[in-house]
Amino acid sequence: MVAQPKIFLTRKGLHWFGSGHPWIFSSDIDKKETDAPGVVAVVGPDTQFLAQALYSPHSKIGLRILSYKPEAVDAVWWKNKIARSIQKRQRLSIASNAKRFVFGEADGLPSLIVDGYAGIVVVQILSAGLETCKSFILDALQEALSPSGILEKNDVAVRDLEKLPRINAVAQGEVPATVVIREGTLEFVVDPWKGQKTGAFLDQRDNRFLAGQLATGMALDVFSYNGWFACHMAEKSDTVICVESSEEAAESIRNNARRNGAQHKIKVIVANAFDFLKAQEEDRQHFDTINLDPPAFIKSAKEKEGGYRGYKEINLRAMKLLNPAGILSSASCSQAFTSPEFEMMLADAAIDTHTALQILYRRGAAPDHPSLVTFPESNYLKCFFCHVS
Ligand code: SAH
Repeated sequence: MVAQPKIFLTRKGLHWFGSGHPWIFSSDIDKKETDAPGVVAVVGPDTQFLAQALYSPHSKIGLRILSYKPEAVDAVWWKNKIARSIQKRQRLSIASNAKRFVFGEADGLPSLIVDGYAGIVVVQILSAGLETCKSFILDALQEALSPSGILEKNDVAVRDLEKLPRINAVAQGEVPATVVIREGTLEFVVDPWKGQKTGAFLDQRDNRFLAGQLATGMALDVFSYNGWFACHMAEKSDTVICVESSEEAAESIRNNARRNGAQHKIKVIVANAFDFLKAQEEDRQHFDTINLDPPAFIKSAKEKEGGYRGYKEINLRAMKLLNPAGILSSASCSQAFTSPEFEMMLADAAIDTHTALQILYRRGAAPDHPSLVTFPESNYLKCFFCHVS
């Protein structure tokens, strides 16, 4: 293999490395042979080879482990690694042509996100080390997927921490303004350029299918985004009311409802979900099915208390609004809010509302968003389906 510049860890860093976590913090770096971002050799305090990693000189996450072997990390390595990540998905029989092909650290490709929407690929390169490997990555994606276009959607805040520019540009081929994808029997419009994340929340796919199976009667979909839950819920319920604060997203819900012939069932309300739920309670409204899929209320440990209150408030109100034998599906994508904590919050809200809350399903992200056991950051999504009586 080509001799990589070496980065030496402290004893504490070596101990942390042993935990299998794919990140090493800059504070655990003892000395280094380079200041430039790129692929480096990670070496222990006794000069033993440990791994190869992506080095980010400006980030608190200094090193992201790429390989535990002293192998060449070249064009062929990237092709094989990316091809294997894509092949893993082929076994999963995902009922959609929109899926995640690479989920960063969880797939051994730290700081790389690759999502496919029909024939379009959206890629996010989220570290300075990975940026140096961009042409290998694009070539590997082209070879493995032959997409009609690759969008480099790198206009995200984490790139600032890496001192990388924010860009949103076509990397290869052509990328249209919108792409129509299929999810189960439904079709949805995705805007890869301006949509949230890479265009859609693909991690909730299987939970949307389940929500579609369990919905009945008068349904409520809170924090709807583009109405994908609502369209699935409309299959079995009479009416779905969508609550969404963004007018642009609301327009997209209406489009998706029409596209799936559900425009007569789906009603869109542009409002703040907290105000809406409170007003419904005051008006003594009731629903048979409620889905709550809020944005992350807890983005760091210090937001835990306020975030907990936010989650409890919406869940408490939903429990009050549900008819007997109602179904509550409740999600949280806050990584710092663990599944047991989430369950405790549900219990807290159930006690306050005198609800017998039974958990039917404890679900997480769809399997194209796997969680690596040594990387708890990849286990972030909770979506519980509960029976309320
Ligand atoms: N359920 C969606 C994803 C929801 S993302 C899906 O499966 O695709 C969260 C959504 O909540 C975003 O669209 C955001 O605009 C909206 N949102 C954020 N804060 C809100 C608030 N206070 N009231 C209503 N909607 C809000």
